[in-house]
Amino acid sequence: MSNRDAASEITECTAEDQEPTLKPLPLQPTLIGPQQPVGRALPNRQQRLIGPWCFLDRIGPMQLQERPLDVPPHPHMGLQTVTWLLQGEMLHRDSLGTEQYITPGQLNLMTAGRGIAHSEQSAGHLTTLSGVQFWIALPEDQADCEPAFEHHSELPEVALEHEARARILVGRFAGEHSPATVYSHLSGVEIIARHDGWLEAPLEPELEYGVLLLEGQGSVEGHPLSTDTLIALGGLRRYITLDLAAGSRVLLFGGEPMEEELLLWWNFVGRSTEEIQQARTDWEQHQRFGEVPGYLGPRLEAPPLTGRLK
Ligand code: MN
Repeated sequence: MSNRDAASEITECTAEDQEPTLKPLPLQPTLIGPQQPVGRALPNRQQRLIGPWCFLDRIGPMQLQERPLDVPPHPHMGLQTVTWLLQGEMLHRDSLGTEQYITPGQLNLMTAGRGIAHSEQSAGHLTTLSGVQFWIALPEDQADCEPAFEHHSELPEVALEHEARARILVGRFAGEHSPATVYSHLSGVEIIARHDGWLEAPLEPELEYGVLLLEGQGSVEGHPLSTDTLIALGGLRRYITLDLAAGSRVLLFGGEPMEEELLLWWNFVGRSTEEIQQARTDWEQHQRFGEVPGYLGPRLEAPPLTGRLK
């Protein structure tokens, strides 16, 4: 995905308090292209980060009959993108030459590092597209690592109460870990309830977490979940109680609080205004990020940047 909200301003991202909380963060409707609405959970006016998770878009559900999803080539820097679908199919192409379809149950993980460009398009003849895309900020000592792309079609699962199961997308959960390459201590799982009932999901007290209902109905710690509100959970918790209707799906994700202050602008994570400006210039001058082979059509232009902080 590409962040069109950036306008000219740079968002400063600093870690929140680590106390346990139940803070509702309503998804903000925004457009990633003409008539292509997404719900943006992070960054949010009330909260910029959850651990290193700095961006979360709920994609759709959108009907594709009239207009497919098409995000032309655009750059990323200093972050990883995590794509997870509930319905439909997408095609990822990037400047490493990757061409990868993704369907529900599979994980696309792109490490931007020092710089990569990619396109994201709906694919196939399916008429509904629904999913999420996260961005994970890379720690400073890895922020300029080599760009990379991984596709995982098999992910480990952990059994929870009442035959619920947790699929580990990235990082660690309940002693198991995802094969996806990450650069900090974090966790990202999808929990699917098989029957009505409550379950306890184990957490790590040193991580801060958020939870988002993807489908169905339920509550967390007695607080109702909805598909249009992310709930920030804070840290210092050993478990969380979820009460879910049969068939419901939630995303539970967390990470160690970022000690450093991050700057988020357009599709870049950086540490200084100069670094962001340089990345913008490099994209404009067709340097660093490379081109995306196979994509027919123009790439995205960078929005103007005044350097002002918000
Ligand atoms: Mn993108």
